[in-house]
Amino acid sequence: MRIENTLPEAEHVTALRRQLQRFVTEKAPRERRRAWDQAHDWPRDLFAELAAMGLCALTVPEDYGGAGQDIEAAVAAIEELARVGPALAGPFIHCAFYGGLNIAENGSEEQKRALLPRLARGELLFAYGLSEPDVGGDLASVKTRGRVEGDAIVINGAKRWCTGADFADYIYCLINTAPEAPKRDALTFVLVPAKAAGVTTTPIAHVNLRYTASCDVHFDDVRLPLDAIVGGPAMLNKGWGMLAGRALDVEKLEVAAVAFGFAQAAVEEAWAYAQERVQFGKPIAAHQAVAHKLVAARTRLEACRLMLHHAARLAQERRPCAIETSMAKLFIAESGVEIALACQQVMGAYALSDAYDIERNVRDLLGMPIVGGSSDMQRNNLAALWRLGR
Ligand SMILES: Cc1cc2nc3c(=O)[nH]c(=O)nc-3n(C[C@H](O)[C@H](O)[C@H](O)COP(=O)(O)OP(=O)(O)OC[C@H]3O[C@@H](n4cnc5c(N)ncnc54)[C@H](O)[C@@H]3O)c2cc1C
Repeated sequence: MRIENTLPEAEHVTALRRQLQRFVTEKAPRERRRAWDQAHDWPRDLFAELAAMGLCALTVPEDYGGAGQDIEAAVAAIEELARVGPALAGPFIHCAFYGGLNIAENGSEEQKRALLPRLARGELLFAYGLSEPDVGGDLASVKTRGRVEGDAIVINGAKRWCTGADFADYIYCLINTAPEAPKRDALTFVLVPAKAAGVTTTPIAHVNLRYTASCDVHFDDVRLPLDAIVGGPAMLNKGWGMLAGRALDVEKLEVAAVAFGFAQAAVEEAWAYAQERVQFGKPIAAHQAVAHKLVAARTRLEACRLMLHHAARLAQERRPCAIETSMAKLFIAESGVEIALACQQVMGAYALSDAYDIERNVRDLLGMPIVGGSSDMQRNNLAALWRLGR
């Protein structure tokens, strides 16, 4: 059973959904999804096919070889890919969002010319280097240090939970470049080649989002040209604006879309299971308590869809959307947990075996209120924005 999008959207977005639905149905059957999850791996061949379909160009402006910044289409693509877990949605995000969107929004002209055409073709993957061993929500307190020496910047420190550092070409990294200055005047984003001398990467064992390793990354006197500063050398100590800008708004949207895709898959699977599983002489869906759980989950899913699409539309139109993207991330991540747990109950013992996707979806959805800015950080953001009268 597939739950279809019922909200109005552009024809080309609906066509993209259909194309991706056919793609995942044919190429990502349950056995392959299970194998990727067990191996912490993702399919390079399928990602190359998605890139050849033009998917990675969706966040890149036309002047740089992209399809224009089609945020609604890119969000729809995540929704459809995440129906089969993180193994296709993840690499797409590492390319189109961590890479394409960030460089399009914050890169220097030189960086845009060098990187965006390759990102649009799916030839480069980025990882996000924000979190550190002692820094989670309080990103302005990052301790990884960048020291300018002549025409170079020398980086020392450690990043944690850097998902994809094992396969990425670049780590899009937040560092402190002015320890004596107030925090907000001390931050800089740098593009660290993941294989640069002095970078070491160690996987962290974890239960969710197992399409790859999430890594500890150490920087030991990593020496880069000043051109590695995102936006160019003039953006030294100007990272705070990038951290709070449009790229971050769209990043919240991207995390919300992933959670939505997982939650949609959970409802679809539990709904179908409940029609087939017979107990006490009838399908369990005919027992009112089970039907009510499923109806509540599906209704909540539709509320999530409305929030996601509203925020995506605002981002598409380049209208202010910090509030709507925070609300979407908060509500969808938390609803995803409720939906996952309800569907798990409906599927009984089988939800705890790896014979069904619900086992992976529960693990993945439980993490969504934490990753990409925790629920309480979203609440703090919203309270601050509303205090300012936004
Ligand atoms: C599988 C996985 C992949 C990840 N991938 C990446 C990645 O690629 N790149 C990256 O940079 N990070 C990544 N992360 C890290 C993730 O973004 C952080 O875990 C997240 O930002 C929360 O940080 P923390 O876990 O250190 O929590 P903390 O900041 O230590 O917070 C712990 C708890 O305290 C609460 N809390 C803290 N401060 C406040 C406050 N002021 N008010 C109210 N509540 C508060 C939080 O809401 C949370 O519930 C990943 C994490 C996981 C698990």
